[in-house]
Amino acid sequence: MKYAVDLGRPFGIRVSVHWTFLLIIAWVIFIDLQQGLDLQQIVFSVLFVLAIFVCVVLHELSHSLMARRYGINTRSITLLPIGGVADLEKMPDDPRQELAVSLAGPLMNIAIALVLWLFLAMTGGLDFEPSNFQEINHSNFLLILMLANLMLALFNLIPAFPMDGGRVFRSLLALKMARDQATYVAMNIGKMFAFFIALWGLYTNPFLIFIAIFIYIGAQREYELVKYSSVLAGYTVEHVLMHEYTPLHPDDPIRRAVDILLDGPEQRFIVTEAGKVRGILTRNDIIQGLTRYDQQVAIRNIMNTGVTTFSHDTSLEKAYEQMRTQQITMAPVLKGEQLAGIIDMDNINEFLMVRRALRR
Ligand SMILES: [Zn+2]
Repeated sequence: MKYAVDLGRPFGIRVSVHWTFLLIIAWVIFIDLQQGLDLQQIVFSVLFVLAIFVCVVLHELSHSLMARRYGINTRSITLLPIGGVADLEKMPDDPRQELAVSLAGPLMNIAIALVLWLFLAMTGGLDFEPSNFQEINHSNFLLILMLANLMLALFNLIPAFPMDGGRVFRSLLALKMARDQATYVAMNIGKMFAFFIALWGLYTNPFLIFIAIFIYIGAQREYELVKYSSVLAGYTVEHVLMHEYTPLHPDDPIRRAVDILLDGPEQRFIVTEAGKVRGILTRNDIIQGLTRYDQQVAIRNIMNTGVTTFSHDTSLEKAYEQMRTQQITMAPVLKGEQLAGIIDMDNINEFLMVRRALRR
């Protein structure tokens, strides 16, 4: 993720914190100052935020390590102001495995709370007098941390898909019905919760509104993913590979691309040199290029050079997801070092429509 600072690699998983997390610290200090707290009290409240932050990392690591048991790797764990995000390669398709992975996070918070409770019980720190909760200090720090972990576990278990509780709910549904149907139900319930959480946030904490937006968008996105993956499963990019295209050379003038564009259905071009992919040229690039350059100027001046390529045996599901998230409309496909053909978003969408129609 952009603008994130690496903190370390526990169990080989990169943990980073997004700079916006600093806003939380600034917010806490701001509120403390407004309430006229002294330096020591402010230090304790900042330490408390950092302690919660460690608990959130442990929560995400717990998801990741459970997923690893099922052969699923985690690309990274990022801490955002709204919480942690473990970027798993995918969620397990087996509902029982998804259930275990989803529960692992909240169970970690419950385990932390239990350990703190045991420690406090042994040291006589379980003082639930209301006067003990007016501010965070050295004597009630662990007690409040224990309660905060219980709250974290409970909040995450709200069945608002794609939060942990929503995933638990989806996996339980998926034991009884098809995965895409289960996700559809979970998505709608997730959106409903998002609405209530946003409403609740309006009256209490504005951060809840961000969480609600995150849930709403996440629920929709996950449903689309499942809807497509159930259709695309089992296919590789080779199934949608296109061989009919006109390769351009970096030294070709823009004029040549314009001629082909006006002459036929091709709207995106691959630029190759000595059999190697050098760039991609879309209709937009051509139009924009024409506003800045003469038609005789070489294509290399206007092509996109940051090209995402796929190996011919990449699963279609993975390629489609990557093209969607990176908003790529066309990508070269390689077989070894050789260019095997291209895949095009329009073409994949047609493939999807055909497959879905055939299933009905
Ligand atoms: Zn979680």
